[in-house]
Amino acid sequence: MKRDLAAMAARPYDVIIIGAGATGAAIAWDAALRGFRVALIDKGDFGHATSAASSKLIHGGLRYLRNGEIALVRESLAERRIWLKIAPHLVHPLANLVPLGAGLKAGAVLGTGLALYDLLSFDRNRIDDPDKRIPGFKFISALQANSMEPVLTAGGISGAFIYGDAQMVNPERLVLEMVAGAVERGAAAANRLEATAIMTEGTAVSGVNAHCTLTGREITLKAPLVINAAGPWADHVAGRVLKDTAPKIVRSKGIHLIVPNVTRSHALVLQTPAGHAFALPWRGHTILGTTDTRDDSPLDQIGVTVKEAEDFLGLVNGALPGARLSLKDVVYHYAGIRPIVDDGGGDTYGASRRPEVVDHGARDGLQGFYSAIGGKWTTSRRLAQKVVDLIDAKVTRWTGHCETDVTPLPGGQTGRFASFTDRLELAHPGLDRKVIDTLAVHYGAKAGEVLALGRDDPSLLAPLSGALPETLAAVIYAVRAEMALTLDDVLFRRTGIGTLGHPGDDVVGRVGQTMARELGWDGAEEARQIDQALARYQFAGGS
Ligand SMILES: Cc1cc2nc3c(=O)[nH]c(=O)nc-3n(C[C@H](O)[C@H](O)[C@H](O)COP(=O)(O)OP(=O)(O)OC[C@H]3O[C@@H](n4cnc5c(N)ncnc54)[C@H](O)[C@@H]3O)c2cc1C
Repeated sequence: MKRDLAAMAARPYDVIIIGAGATGAAIAWDAALRGFRVALIDKGDFGHATSAASSKLIHGGLRYLRNGEIALVRESLAERRIWLKIAPHLVHPLANLVPLGAGLKAGAVLGTGLALYDLLSFDRNRIDDPDKRIPGFKFISALQANSMEPVLTAGGISGAFIYGDAQMVNPERLVLEMVAGAVERGAAAANRLEATAIMTEGTAVSGVNAHCTLTGREITLKAPLVINAAGPWADHVAGRVLKDTAPKIVRSKGIHLIVPNVTRSHALVLQTPAGHAFALPWRGHTILGTTDTRDDSPLDQIGVTVKEAEDFLGLVNGALPGARLSLKDVVYHYAGIRPIVDDGGGDTYGASRRPEVVDHGARDGLQGFYSAIGGKWTTSRRLAQKVVDLIDAKVTRWTGHCETDVTPLPGGQTGRFASFTDRLELAHPGLDRKVIDTLAVHYGAKAGEVLALGRDDPSLLAPLSGALPETLAAVIYAVRAEMALTLDDVLFRRTGIGTLGHPGDDVVGRVGQTMARELGWDGAEEARQIDQALARYQFAGGS
């Protein structure tokens, strides 16, 4: 993927998509596969916002059954199977364990809910790779639960349920794969390109003015269709052209804390006075998530405060006394904003995660303009399908049917994933096994492209540190092939180097120098990039 704004501006498009989170990237991928001429832009990096701040679950959303949202849960469970098929390297089954307290009633209600969850995912094992199959739920005794997850012992549980869902290893790379897939099919894509105006001719949109946030350069993109997939910014983007009639969004903030491993292999689903919380196993650590509080702070300044982290740790410790976590255990933290379509209810935790597609031609008289808002990561592919079905009717050129449910993402053509990893290891006997495993999950079928960078210089494929199986080859590949423009892009999205806590000054220095060589940074720029990237480890509001 090359970023070429002049070439981008010179091409005609059928559709311009504003926002390259999961929603915009999925729309671009779907539309490009169907033969649309697509431009995709993001004012930040691909997938940097809400899509990077999720709990990383590809799930049906068991708790939504309580609200009677059976259709949404069924749709999500169907999508879970599709993600496991099209991105076998990045999406993997995850066993959830729900500890039970003393009351019989809560256990009976949960058991009924899980039976329904299984029923709604009746087709979950229609999948070739046996490792991607998800077993039905089961009840286990307190003794079994405590021996599986010793951290539960201190809580005095009466038993537990185990049920299956799935987890993304790296949501940021999943967004990138959809963008790369779209580009392989002819789309133009650019990060750090902000839509500053939506142009109109009469009562229809005609294109977008965009501003490069790195150089200040302005370009114009022309198309008869514009899709607003700007997530929590969707009302701002729509407001540029619709003024008072722009859709209303309620913003709900969610935080996550990464701590040393608390669980062995299960995701623990905990009840707290504020709702439910997860302790999710991830890359040898545990992700604690999440909160759900209405938040109207400026969107570009969202972060986790010390108070939020302490309050949330208090809730987790209350539900999981064996964990005994404190602020000192937090190696990394992140926060995101859920864009929730305003239903007037005021409650964000209980609000529906159903997405909304707005045809502003029908609603506001502005033809060719659409907004796709809300929803879940899990259902972003399906949301994209609905959007592209809708715009399909507006394009006079021939376009095909939706194929994103059956087309593997660029790295997804691995066949049975465990065998793919074994083959990769056999083909590279001299390489550290953890390096190969990391390349396999991050790049899937494209791992060979990263490995090829080590052909002349094998040191590029050495692990960056004893704790980090990431490599400098991945850093170079990010710059040359994945449009990484900043150190932040590389540390936190193209690779997992920064997301398990500060990787150490030596690693940051070597990654910074490698990027400086690739991108021609001088010493001052390299130092600025390092300062900017390391600021992520600070809590919001200092300390
Ligand atoms: C705390 C939390 C936990 C979650 N956990 C899960 C989970 O485990 N599983 C699940 O299925 N879902 C989860 N979700 C929901 C999921 O993350 C979102 O539904 C999804 O990421 C929304 O993606 P999006 O593309 O709509 O928004 P975003 O990812 O926010 O993307 C919008 C993009 O638009 C860009 N943009 C904005 N304005 C402009 C402009 N003017 N020009 C160009 N670009 C612009 C932004 O830079 C941004 O990249 C969670 C959400 C939160 C907040």
